Amino acid sequence: MSIQNAISSPQAGKHAIVHGGSMAGLIVAGVLSRHFERVTLVERDRFEEGPQPRKGIPQAPHVHVLLLRGLGILCNTFPGFREELRAAGSQSLDMSGDYAWFMAGIWRSRKPCGIRVQAQSRPLLEWTVRKCLLARSNVRVLDGREVIGYTASADNARITGVQIQAPGGGQEETLQGELVVDASGRGSRLPQWLEALGYPRVEETRIHVDVGYGSRFYRRPPGFEPGWRGLILAPDLPKMTRFGTLIPIEDDRWLASMGSWLGNHPPTDDAGFLEFARGLGHPHMYEALRNAEPLGPISLYRFSHNQRRYYERMPRFPEGLAVIGDAFCSFNPMYGQGMTTGALQAEALGECLRQGLAGVSQHYRQRVGKLLEVPWMLATSADLRLPSVEGKRPPAFGLMNWYGDRFQQLAGYDDETLRLFVEVMNMVQSPAAMFSPRTVLKVLTSRPSADVLSRRPEPMAAQAQRTQTA
Ligand SMILES: Cc1cc2nc3c(=O)[nH]c(=O)nc-3n(C[C@H](O)[C@H](O)[C@H](O)COP(=O)(O)OP(=O)(O)OC[C@H]3O[C@@H](n4cnc5c(N)ncnc54)[C@H](O)[C@@H]3O)c2cc1C
Repeated sequence: MSIQNAISSPQAGKHAIVHGGSMAGLIVAGVLSRHFERVTLVERDRFEEGPQPRKGIPQAPHVHVLLLRGLGILCNTFPGFREELRAAGSQSLDMSGDYAWFMAGIWRSRKPCGIRVQAQSRPLLEWTVRKCLLARSNVRVLDGREVIGYTASADNARITGVQIQAPGGGQEETLQGELVVDASGRGSRLPQWLEALGYPRVEETRIHVDVGYGSRFYRRPPGFEPGWRGLILAPDLPKMTRFGTLIPIEDDRWLASMGSWLGNHPPTDDAGFLEFARGLGHPHMYEALRNAEPLGPISLYRFSHNQRRYYERMPRFPEGLAVIGDAFCSFNPMYGQGMTTGALQAEALGECLRQGLAGVSQHYRQRVGKLLEVPWMLATSADLRLPSVEGKRPPAFGLMNWYGDRFQQLAGYDDETLRLFVEVMNMVQSPAAMFSPRTVLKVLTSRPSADVLSRRPEPMAAQAQRTQTA
């Protein structure tokens, strides 16, 4: 692993401390290793060797899509990252050629669009990032240690370090650093810690969705060739709230996740899980799962609400402190934005540090406030389509939804629009591109043909029967 970049930038300071060693913490530690002499990453869990689940990331057994923008930032931060990931068994998939993808009432064209994404388990993704980080000689990891509070200057205007302890008690220790980054996830205790230092309570918005994910690993059935490698059954909000996705991952396994909004969650017993798959509106998930060998139990994750903390609006905020990832803003995972938004924040912090350490906390929180607008709007405006989800609808909400539906439908049969949609979804293109005059004209004047509306990939069993009788 190259550390070329670690020594190519002028140094902003001697020591930075990150607490929380999940995706946001790992990426930002990588970025900071280019700007500080030393970086210490403090993680409450013990890190095991290899891609293992752990207590601090209960979301690990569920499908995690790494958007292209996030992958790009990881590759910039850790040169050779993509190759490491692929060598570890991550699968490369064309977004249209390899996926059977139902969305907005249409099965998308299977013509390859040339945009490829990586599919792997979340533990493999995190392990690969951690390996890349550990290869940096100026990074130290303190696992099995929890941050229990901050130290501050006499006037509390600057955070000067962290107090750490083994979870459950033991000897307290203090680490001093010029920058402390909170990457401790949506349960971050920063609002309380700042209040204790005399700062006002950070404003917070919650949008309750009660989404439940049920997921299971499977052995990929040998000999089954359904003609697709991955499956996406997107919900048709507000009419249909169930979703399902199946991806091929390392070690010749599948990972299937299904779920729904508003408490209609998948059961965790075998029969109930399959029955949920049957209720997805298409037989593909059901046929696939009923033919595959389960490799372990069904995991359920309940996500109660989107949560945005407006640190950028606080009238006062200490120097020497930054917040990143789910600790700043946590979205309904359905839209696959969490890890990439964390990566974008890490990139933004790196850019702020190019000007040096002075004022970095203030510049960074303002940048993140702006950066969060689009992903927050995309996630919450989809959730707010459900009438029982409480929250303020933006002006022209109905019109925007109508346009969005028509745009997504067009992406089902127009190659150029499909590419644009995939780019916007992967955060490599601004949503503003959906409103170019050429696209608006197409959206307003095109209709899907009868052929498009009746297009269907075959469910697995039909293909399998043919394979067996051939
Ligand atoms: C079911 C589900 C599916 C998801 N799917 C996707 C997806 O497809 N794509 C996507 O991009 N995102 C997805 N996400 C979101 C994604 O998991 C998070 O956005 C991502 O993990 C980044 O979070 P984070 O690093 O900020 O925090 P977390 O992942 O929550 O990690 C916080 C870390 O901090 C540690 N910690 C906590 N407190 C302390 C402390 N005091 N001291 C030291 N360490 C501490 C924890 O042990 C943990 O390791 C999904 C989430 C869920 C729940």
